[in-house]
Amino acid sequence: MGRKDDCIFCKIIAGDIPSLRVWDSPVGVAFLDVNPLAEGHTLLVPRQHFADLRDMPPDTLGQLLAVAPALCAAIIAATGATGVNFLQNTGASSGQVVLHTHFHFIPRRDGDGLGYRWNAGNYSEGRAEVLQGAIAEALG
Ligand code: 5GP
Ligand code: ZN
Repeated sequence: MGRKDDCIFCKIIAGDIPSLRVWDSPVGVAFLDVNPLAEGHTLLVPRQHFADLRDMPPDTLGQLLAVAPALCAAIIAATGATGVNFLQNTGASSGQVVLHTHFHFIPRRDGDGLGYRWNAGNYSEGRAEVLQGAIAEALG
């Protein structure tokens, strides 16, 4: 099973670094983020080391994410939050710091002050169609 010796999440999964786990299964674990954006902020992590979302085998990803609905509901029930941001960072420019794929579950409440700078833009004439073609072609 893939483990990377200098990876902090591989160490957490192996039990070499303690964590407060809320879910433990053959495919992955979920534990409280040590520096939460809100109380109950939880990370869902595959047992095997994959650097980011691009490296995840679809079957493994599907098995891991099967717990996402229940985990989301449990976090809401336990914290009294009224919403959750389900977030995955791939690449340093997205904010990814730990290079072992993980999914954030961040409890949200009205007026909590968290959130993105959601500076929505517009496409110039024809640009969206160019990108549509490029992404579809890259998908193959
Ligand atoms: P990223 O920015 O890579 O998407 O998120 C990494 C997350 O891992 C951060 O929210 C950070 O607080 C959390 N984290 C980093 N090291 C540890 C640790 O040793 N234990 C726990 N529980 N969380 C960690
Ligand atoms: Zn790892």
